[in-house]
Amino acid sequence: MGRGELEELVVSLGEPKYRASQIFKALHQRRRRSFDEITDLPKSFREILAQRAEVSRLTVESRYVSTDGTRRYLMKTADGKPVETVYIPTEGRDTICFSSQSGCPLKCDFCLTAKLGLLKNLSVGEIVEQIIIVLNDVYGAGAETPHGTNLVGMGAGEPFLNFENLIDALRLMADESGLFIVPDRVTVSTAGIVPKIHDLANLHDRPHLAISLSAANDELRNKLMPINKRWDLDELMKVAREFEKSLRRGERFTFEYVMLGGVNDSAKDADQLADLLEMYRIRRVKVNLIPHNGAEQLDYAASTPEQVRQFKDILESRGVSAYVRTPRGRDIYAACGQLAAKAGA
Ligand code: SAH
Repeated sequence: MGRGELEELVVSLGEPKYRASQIFKALHQRRRRSFDEITDLPKSFREILAQRAEVSRLTVESRYVSTDGTRRYLMKTADGKPVETVYIPTEGRDTICFSSQSGCPLKCDFCLTAKLGLLKNLSVGEIVEQIIIVLNDVYGAGAETPHGTNLVGMGAGEPFLNFENLIDALRLMADESGLFIVPDRVTVSTAGIVPKIHDLANLHDRPHLAISLSAANDELRNKLMPINKRWDLDELMKVAREFEKSLRRGERFTFEYVMLGGVNDSAKDADQLADLLEMYRIRRVKVNLIPHNGAEQLDYAASTPEQVRQFKDILESRGVSAYVRTPRGRDIYAACGQLAAKAGA
């Protein structure tokens, strides 16, 4: 619930409006997980609330910790659908990777989440609660959100096919008397839902954007990412160009490029990518190269480190900033493209 809805609820229960602020603070800033823990509310009101409303809709089924400190949380919604969230510690800051859908309707050929199909769109609460659960696990309830916590909407699902809930959840999380994770600390990733990229460009207080590209020609992209048949590279580059115009001072956006051995990682592919950016005059972008994370059901191999380096060098020689993303949590199926409600590891 947003603040408005909370106010309506407390007023409808015959309580003064300011109770809504107390509840909001307790649930979001203090990250309390039940009404009973909100001890600044009268006990009788806590009991009424508990009968009328719920704090939590997610339960943690299992938690896996990688040798590199990454944690993967396998959760379940109240209606039994899997949700996965990943905690990625790096020196000096934390990143939490959340999911926007249970499963995913897109059929990217190299991604394990795709094999689940779409199970459901997550609600606003189910998105926010993932972050609350992770922060409580790492820092305990009651502690303030550590300064510098980053969020990435790069877990399971296509965030831009659950756009309204995504944006509402980000608004709730940005609230100063809540989690206080501002949009500047958030990046959302899309496989290329063109109309929603347009909408995001026009949104005040928007998060940063990443677009998963992974191929620089339609023939290959159609095969790797079938969403390309709905919105092709021409449409995607045009909207990316439009998005570029909405960038703030010093801001850039990102193209993600999964590196698939022998498939999209040749010198020719790198040149084609640089050509594409040149053709559409896209400049304020960086390319994140993601070595493919394997799984038994996937028919792809990661590019060799030499191929990745060559690809990066070619992009840079053509004036395109390129970075190689270090895989995190591969051993516990927590890395990009590995979230498939897998138990074990
Ligand atoms: N659906 C959105 C959000 C998911 S982000 C999107 O596609 O952008 C997850 C990122 O991991 C995407 O860039 C995706 O292309 C990448 N990815 C998918 N499977 C992968 C794999 N097996 N190895 C490495 N990266 C993968």
